[in-house]
Amino acid sequence: MSEVPPSHPRYASLKLREAIVAGVEQGITSLHGLIAHGRGEALDYLIGETSHPFAIAAVRAGAAMLLRARHPVISVNGNAAALVAGGLTALGRLLPAPLEVNIFHPSKEREEAIAAHLRAQGAEEVLMPTQEAQLSYIESNRRFVHPEGIFKADVVFVPLEDGDRCQALQRMGVEVVTVDLNPLSRTARAASVAIVDNLARAMPLLLQAVAQLRQDPPASWQERIASYHHDTILRAAEARIRSGA
Ligand code: ATP
Ligand code: MG
Repeated sequence: MSEVPPSHPRYASLKLREAIVAGVEQGITSLHGLIAHGRGEALDYLIGETSHPFAIAAVRAGAAMLLRARHPVISVNGNAAALVAGGLTALGRLLPAPLEVNIFHPSKEREEAIAAHLRAQGAEEVLMPTQEAQLSYIESNRRFVHPEGIFKADVVFVPLEDGDRCQALQRMGVEVVTVDLNPLSRTARAASVAIVDNLARAMPLLLQAVAQLRQDPPASWQERIASYHHDTILRAAEARIRSGA
């Protein structure tokens, strides 16, 4: 399918672009998702397309927060499904935590396509949005959740979240671990832990961190969370972008 030779200097970035386009073609990703991805590409370019120490620190804090959770849930949208369906499925199995489909632009077909794609990757439990359970403080389609999933979660992993729902979840007392290349977005600011990195690079790092920390005593998770300073992390990410180096 790919015409991009591995020697191409923009190989990794172009492969991700292909994955997003394939997501649209398969009915998983929305057209708007292409634009969101483009914004991500631009920011990734500016941070040097690499996982920085501020991202690694957030990965480890996020892993600890998910492990410590009583009821963690993994929220999946069309871009995340196109880029890292296998990784999200593996994370669900490791924690363990259910995956829940949650998209901004309403489409039953796309919700079903995302769920089918996750199941094809081996996901056992994929929860769907319902009319019965709704989040407060939010009006978009993302308010519709599953009563056994996000509705009763204490920690939600929401890569590529939109700012409105991140704020709504926080107001409801739910902790949010997000991945967002924009340290200035409302999502990154309102999250409990923000991994400022490309989701495609962060996902394997998060899996590795969860697999490692899982072996450690729960008290050490607490320490790891306490040593994460959200504002400092966001400032470090912004400084990297502004340095232009
Ligand atoms: P907010 O609503 O949080 O203020 P926004 O409106 O700028 O943010 P959206 O358009 O809702 O953001 O979503 C796109 C966000 O996702 C952007 O911040 C973009 O940088 C980020 N993003 C896109 N693709 C990726 C990716 N592969 N990895 C990490 N972040 C990404
Ligand atoms: Mg937004």
